[in-house]
Amino acid sequence: MAGISFRNVSKRYGNTVAVQNASFDIQPGEFFCFFGPPLSGKSTILKLMLGLETPDEGEVLIDGRPVNHISPGHRNVAMVFQNLALFPHMTAAENVRFPLVERKVPEATIRARVDAVAAKLHIAHLLHKLPAHLSGGERQRVAIARALVRDPVAYLMDDPISALDARLREETRVELKRIQRELGQTLIYVTHDQEEAMSVADRMAILEHGEIRQIGAPVDIYDRPASRYVAQLLGAPMMNIMAAAPSGRPETGEGTILLPAEQMSGNVAGVGIRPEDLKVEPWAEGHAGRPATVYEVEPLGGYTVVTLDTGSQKLRALLRGQPDIRIDSRVALSCNPERVHFFGAAGEALRP
Ligand code: ADP
Repeated sequence: MAGISFRNVSKRYGNTVAVQNASFDIQPGEFFCFFGPPLSGKSTILKLMLGLETPDEGEVLIDGRPVNHISPGHRNVAMVFQNLALFPHMTAAENVRFPLVERKVPEATIRARVDAVAAKLHIAHLLHKLPAHLSGGERQRVAIARALVRDPVAYLMDDPISALDARLREETRVELKRIQRELGQTLIYVTHDQEEAMSVADRMAILEHGEIRQIGAPVDIYDRPASRYVAQLLGAPMMNIMAAAPSGRPETGEGTILLPAEQMSGNVAGVGIRPEDLKVEPWAEGHAGRPATVYEVEPLGGYTVVTLDTGSQKLRALLRGQPDIRIDSRVALSCNPERVHFFGAAGEALRP
């Protein structure tokens, strides 16, 4: 088990900057996610860890040792393949032993390693089965067992479950988190799915155009995003952002969402409110909240997403259950001032 660190690592392909000045320390045993939109540099970071690419600048360290000039075969970092692909014509046992057979490891050693790994992952009773006869979670355990037989210092996964259907993805996600905790091994995971990143990671790094914008525990980043970009990348529906009027109050059309004046400095260019923090009440004369019209209602069963038209923009609210809200009705919007986010002109978060 090892930690992996980058020190000011950059990687370019011709004129394309794939990774720019990246620095981080992944702790041994940590479940660490790289999250960002497509082409933000996530896969390149994994390739730099594996040794499939060499940095143009900076240093990659595994377990504190510089590895820039160490070949992939000598880094002992395992890649668990996309979609957890197993060879369909081989039993689980044959799949798991494959990396050792390939390396011409003696048969007795292979048997001992496969038995040990199968016990660790609780799959001994599945070893005789073909992948088609395993559940999603079981397939995942077998795929991880196949990586584990090599006894790597860390595991990397590049968007491993994005191609699975939604239900299988949920099952696989839970299983993966559980396995990582049981094994206590360093797991480095790439995803472009915010819900997945939030749900599995101990900590995550958020990427934009090859640059790391924020590193932290998912809920800390969610509650204290460093920028508007990060704020809107996490959470669904995404955070509402209102322009701040020159007076320092959010742009309103008519009425305002009440905020204590001391929170509004002249630097505020954007005011952010997460959909679950927006309070929607029936309109009543004299209500202090901001008036709006209900534009559309999306009942999701446990939650309802309501789109509200304030006259100047549309805001979205996430309400519990199935509230009785009619389209085109007048409502008043308000928000707990402590849950409001402020952003400067460059999108940087401003802390009151
Ligand atoms: P992600 O994994 O977030 O989708 P990548 O790391 O694959 O992003 O890509 C980051 C940037 O580097 C993109 O602009 C991509 O086009 C470019 N890139 C990645 N690999 C190569 C390559 N082998 N040759 C040229 N450009 C590449």
